Amino acid sequence: MACTGCAGATVVAIRMRIGGEEIMFRRCSKCEVNRWSDESGEIGLDEVLELARASR
Ligand SMILES: [Zn+2]
Repeated sequence: MACTGCAGATVVAIRMRIGGEEIMFRRCSKCEVNRWSDESGEIGLDEVLELARASR
């Protein structure tokens, strides 16, 4: 999978479950861009934090 920021192919994708939602975390080791997405598309870090807070 290529990075949408630098087009590098060094993206690590980690699937995790936060607050009952399947979240995909992608990190590019080249430009160090972090991206989060759920099944409906890309989401911001604040939304991820919101899910984590709601799961408590
Ligand atoms: Zn990149």
